[in-house]
Amino acid sequence: MTDPGTRRVLVVNAGSSSLKYQLVDPDDGTSEASGLVERIGLADGRARHTCSAGTFTTESDVPDHARAMELLTAAFAEHGPDLAAVQLVAVGHRVVHGGADFSQPTLITAEVVETVRRLIPLAPLHNPGNLEGIEVARETFPDVPQVAVFDTAFHQTMPASASTYAVPRAWREEHRVRRYGFHGTSHAYVSRRTAALLGRPLEDVAIVVLHLGNGASATAVDGGRSVATSMGLTPLEGLVMGTRPGDLDPGLAGHLADRAGLTPDDFDRALSKESGLLGLTGSADFREVMERRAQGDADASLAFDVVVHRLLHYVGGYAAVLGRLDALAFTAGIGEHSPELRAEVLTRLAGFGVELDPEANATASGEARITTASSSVAAFVVPTNEEWEIARQAAGVVAG
Ligand code: AMP
Repeated sequence: MTDPGTRRVLVVNAGSSSLKYQLVDPDDGTSEASGLVERIGLADGRARHTCSAGTFTTESDVPDHARAMELLTAAFAEHGPDLAAVQLVAVGHRVVHGGADFSQPTLITAEVVETVRRLIPLAPLHNPGNLEGIEVARETFPDVPQVAVFDTAFHQTMPASASTYAVPRAWREEHRVRRYGFHGTSHAYVSRRTAALLGRPLEDVAIVVLHLGNGASATAVDGGRSVATSMGLTPLEGLVMGTRPGDLDPGLAGHLADRAGLTPDDFDRALSKESGLLGLTGSADFREVMERRAQGDADASLAFDVVVHRLLHYVGGYAAVLGRLDALAFTAGIGEHSPELRAEVLTRLAGFGVELDPEANATASGEARITTASSSVAAFVVPTNEEWEIARQAAGVVAG
């Protein structure tokens, strides 16, 4: 257990029906407690709290986020650590959409809350839950600074050439239509760790980060700054994901409205929940797709090939945008745990100076270099740690 005098940040990730939290030391990323309140708004809610004393589950009615926050404080009071006894320097809130208004983690004031509320049309599924979390945390911890850390903020450094869609001026100006990008906290953390693993200053290196989880995105990072990213106005664009398709022909919406009578809601639902791996194979779970592929399933085999094709398309494109490439980083569930996918991508890049180390790739666990010492582009597995990054950024805001 760490020294009670050590700084800590309570990291809160509130969604519309869940509230996840972790108590993190912003200096070394260690976590003394974490938990999840699920099924907020439903009759049969559940809360789970894990700390040094064990894992504790409570079944309870959780009508709203205020009740979820009560369960959080009750779990800390009952099972520890005692929040009143630790040096809680901030509550760090994950906020999905900061639009063009936020390029940095930001101390939450009434004005910031209003701005996040104005951004709801850009993230109708996420920002309302994030705001509920902020409001109940401000009431529960009135004396602790609250900091918003935005998923979009890291990408605000993209040049206009990368963030602008070639669409009518009215869409861009009245409806804020542009590329924002997401997973910024992960891309920031992983690119920093990748430079450290390369043994070079972040300012000097060109990196492509592949965040491959149920949601997936690629980012080109030049000297620590995002210069291009694959997710766009919404988290649907770019790579093939668990249930989202990634890049599509924009003509598809009109085509299906005419031919199949699809409404905008039908279209949204199909692209958010029924596409990607699920649309191609019937399973959104990459591990299951790989198991089926190993048994000779043609749909699973095609899905793998489509995923790899799209990854190669982005890696090649981003290497060209960067003008050079020092390193590739694989992170999130699939990036961290699928040596098969990493091997396929890296082997196909052999012509560009990537030399896979098959043994290192097969046995990688935690942070690992998976290319040979002589490979001119290095590749790494870097487990992401968004909670630590949120804690680090929140503590940085408070320290000034
Ligand atoms: P995340 O959203 O980061 O939790 O990643 C979830 C995805 O990672 C799912 O598609 C899982 O099937 C995939 N995943 C997790 N473990 C493995 C594994 N050992 N092999 C392949 N895919 C995995």
